[in-house]
Amino acid sequence: MNAPTTPQGLPGQPQVAYAGDQLHVEGVCLSELAREHGTPLFVYSKAAMLSALAAYQRGFAGRNAQICYAMKANSSLAVLQVFADAGCGFDIVSGGELARVLAAGGDPAKVIFSGVGKTRHEMKQALQVGIGCFNVESEAELDVLSAVAADLGKVAPVSLRVNPNVDPKTHPYISTGLKGNKFGIAHEDAQRAYRHAASLPGLKVVGIDCHIGSQITDSTPYLDAMDRVLDLVADIEAAGIAIHHIDFGGGLGINYNGDTPPEADALWAQLLAKLDARGYGQRQLMIEPGRSLVGNAGVCLTEVLYLKPGEQKNFCIVDAAMNDLPRPAMYQAFHQIVPVSQHSGDGVVYDVVGPVCESGDWIGRDRQLVVQAGDVLAVLSAGAYCMSMASNYNTRGRAAEILVDGTKAHLIRQRESAFDTFALEQLV
Ligand SMILES: *Cc1c(COP(=O)(O)O)cnc(C)c1O
Repeated sequence: MNAPTTPQGLPGQPQVAYAGDQLHVEGVCLSELAREHGTPLFVYSKAAMLSALAAYQRGFAGRNAQICYAMKANSSLAVLQVFADAGCGFDIVSGGELARVLAAGGDPAKVIFSGVGKTRHEMKQALQVGIGCFNVESEAELDVLSAVAADLGKVAPVSLRVNPNVDPKTHPYISTGLKGNKFGIAHEDAQRAYRHAASLPGLKVVGIDCHIGSQITDSTPYLDAMDRVLDLVADIEAAGIAIHHIDFGGGLGINYNGDTPPEADALWAQLLAKLDARGYGQRQLMIEPGRSLVGNAGVCLTEVLYLKPGEQKNFCIVDAAMNDLPRPAMYQAFHQIVPVSQHSGDGVVYDVVGPVCESGDWIGRDRQLVVQAGDVLAVLSAGAYCMSMASNYNTRGRAAEILVDGTKAHLIRQRESAFDTFALEQLV
C-alpha cells in the first residue's frame, strides 16, 4: 500500500480526504484531533453515515419499508442517535443493546430482537417496553417466549429466522445462512415451526426473516436467498398463516481493500424487481444493515511508538492494538493504513502491530509507509465491528470516540482510564 502522494479522497470513504498533506474527516483535521484528544481515537463522520443510509432510503423510495440498523456493528449512543433521528429502527441482539436504544432515544416499537440465545429476562424486558418483533431462531425458543409473554399477560409478535442454505461466499466466521450454522431454522423445518408458533397462546406470527452473512460483495446470494424465502412464504400462507412482513437481514459489504459490493440502492433495485415479479412488492419489507451503514464512516487514529527494523520483518509498533481493532486478529481482516500527515520520502515495508502480548496482535501486514516515531496513522474503514468489539485485554482502557459533523468535532465517549477498567472489582 503506497501512501497517497497527492491530495485526494480515499477509496470507499468520501468523507476522509487529504487537504494539502493533512488528512481530514469532513472539515476536521485529524492531526489536530489526535493532539487534542490523544490516541487511539475513533473518529466518525455523521455525513458518511447519513449518506450510506440515504442509499437504502433511495432504494426503498415509495415502498413500505423499515430500516433497522443492526447496532452490534457500532453501538455507541451518539451513533444510535444519528440513526434514530433519521427514522431508523434497530436490530438488537441483547437486553444490553435494548437499554442502549432506549438511552439514545430510539423507538422500541421499531426494534427487532435477533439472536439464538435470548434469556427469559431479556424477553421480559423487551415485552415490557413493547418491541416490534422477536426474530426467533429455534422451536425451543418459541415455547419459552410464549410462556414468558403469557406470564406477563402479553402477546409477543414473532418472525421466524429461516436458514435459506445459500453460500454468501464470505469469511466462514461471518457466514450465517448455511446448514452447518447455529443460526436460524432449517428451510425444511420452517413449515412445522410456523404451525407450532401459530398454535401457541403467547405468540402472534407477524413475519419471516433471514440473514445470510456479512461483508457480502455480490448480489447473487441475496437473490437466491430471496427466492428461497418467498417459496416458504407461499407455503406458509397456503397453510393459513399470514406473513405481514418480510425481513431480508443485513450483510451488505463495504470497500476495505478494493472490494466492489453493489451500492445499496442498486442491490435493492434488483431485489425489488424480483419481489414485484413474484407479487410480493407491496408487503412490508424490513432490512437489518449494520456494517454498510457505519464501516466506512469511521477511522481509528493511532500513534507510532517505535520502529523496530529486523532481518525478516520491520515492525511499526503503534498504540492501538487488537483490543481496539479486533478484526485483523479475528478474521485476518484488512484495513487500509495511511498517515494523517503526509511526508515525502521512500516508503519502508512494515508490519503494523500493537503493544498487546499476542502474536495475533497485528493491524496490517506488509504495508509500505513513510513514517517515524511520533507520527499518527489512520486505520481506515474502522466504523464497524471495532469499537463495539473492543475489550480491556492487557488492562488497556478503551479508546475515546469523536463524531464529526461538518467542522464540529463532538467527543461522544471519553477515554477509559485504568481505574475504569477495574472499578467493579474488589479485593477479598
Ligand atoms: C450482524 C447482523 C446483521 C448485520 O450484519 P452486517 O453485516 O453488519 O450488515 C443483521 N442481522 C442479524 C440477525 C445480524 O446478526
